[in-house]
Amino acid sequence: MNYKQALEHKIFKIISKSAKEIDVDCYVIGGFVRDFILDRGKHKDIDIVAIGSGIKLAKQVAKNLPNNPKVQVFKTYGTAMLRFEDIEIEFVGARKESYNEDSRNPIVENGTLEDDQNRRDFTINALALDLSEEKFGALLDPFNGIEDLQNKTIITPLNPDVTYSDDPLRMLRAIRFATQLNFQIEDNSLKAITKNSDRIKIITKERIVTELNKILESSKPSIGFLLLEKTGLLKLIIPELTNLKGVEEVEGQKHKDNFYHTLEVVDNISKHTDNLWLRWAALLHDIGKAPTKKFSKKVGWTFHGHEFEGSKMVYHLFKRLKMPLNDKMKFVQKMVFMSSRPIVLAQDIVTDSAVRRLVFDAGDYVDDLMTLCEADITTKNPNKFKKYHNNFKIVREKIVEVEARDHVRNFQPPVSGEEIMKTFNLKPSREIGIIKEKIKEAILEGDIPNEHEAAFQLMLKEGEKLGLTVSS
Ligand code: ATP
Repeated sequence: MNYKQALEHKIFKIISKSAKEIDVDCYVIGGFVRDFILDRGKHKDIDIVAIGSGIKLAKQVAKNLPNNPKVQVFKTYGTAMLRFEDIEIEFVGARKESYNEDSRNPIVENGTLEDDQNRRDFTINALALDLSEEKFGALLDPFNGIEDLQNKTIITPLNPDVTYSDDPLRMLRAIRFATQLNFQIEDNSLKAITKNSDRIKIITKERIVTELNKILESSKPSIGFLLLEKTGLLKLIIPELTNLKGVEEVEGQKHKDNFYHTLEVVDNISKHTDNLWLRWAALLHDIGKAPTKKFSKKVGWTFHGHEFEGSKMVYHLFKRLKMPLNDKMKFVQKMVFMSSRPIVLAQDIVTDSAVRRLVFDAGDYVDDLMTLCEADITTKNPNKFKKYHNNFKIVREKIVEVEARDHVRNFQPPVSGEEIMKTFNLKPSREIGIIKEKIKEAILEGDIPNEHEAAFQLMLKEGEKLGLTVSS
């Protein structure tokens, strides 16, 4: 492979020239090199390691760039960053690291390129390309990272036990890369992760969530969640999911394993949406099943109210993981809360009124909800599979039809509370709510169209029933 091709962008020549001017050697290292070899498309972050001061090099590069971009200096880390076109370039001086028990932040000394490659997490992330004029594009691969790329293996440059214990974030990074790249984590690494799993407690929630999000954004997230489970990390991070594991049998009646079912749903939905929050909803849609599980002789296994319970658990989970408690969380809650609604519909004859109620309750999220429910069909019975999908197709068609006619998606009552008050000469009171509810119900049931005149007539009728008189 001609690695010079990786360096075709003009920025690399400018970095090379700048390094020469201040007499330091420098290399491009890490994800940029890895992703070039894997042909994963343009990597927008470039990491440069300088044998000397990374900050000084960054400033020299900025001087040589046409628009003299600002250099952002992070003194504590000895790094500097600048942007050029749509690329973010990070500069760091080569360093040697050692660790304390209670922190993932190392004690740092200046070092050689080799020291710097030693501190990298995986052999595939330690690949470096020389940027000096004389050896421009030469590959430095002290740990056979190229071979590991070919063998699709995640392996640490040094003893994995030390690597993961030093910085436990690497455990999640290993699993994340295995998921994104569809690579295997080498056996000793996997053992070391399992052994060190409870070191995850020194990692901030924000960093954990960043990695979880990357796993969820991959094309087959189950790879990551299975590894998280196998290594014992999942029960420390999201016990709500590991609590779904297992099949219980009482009097010959079993329920499905809701953990593996959930992972199937997440993989299914990932074929149809890139919306991270909808993927979270798929991951969490059944978490209420663990605390609501019951067995009775009459009906077998039930999970009554698991959607409501699950939606409450979403809040606690987001809070614990320091995830945003905003409209994203509310969206996930809504999806979890409504996750069974279309399924009930699809098992039966699909009536207009049931569809109208679904659209009314889901509002703008009705399409997302349908996508979730379609992903939820994991039955291995081909007849049922076909029947449910067909019914969902009918539901989707009816949604369009009903919405075009009845406009209940973002329902606005055709007769306002004010109009009711004026008609019957009322002050704010309970009767207004009753009449409004009757009108809404009549529209959703299909008894009257969603129009002012019909709603007004119904209001008069309901007012009469309540003993109200029309004001003159
Ligand atoms: P991506 O951009 O897909 O996350 P990346 O490999 O560029 O991949 P970064 O987090 O940007 O990931 O890290 C850049 C490089 O820094 C890595 O390739 C690796 O060499 C090194 N690195 C990052 N985090 C760690 C860590 N926790 N321990 C050791 N080396 C690390």
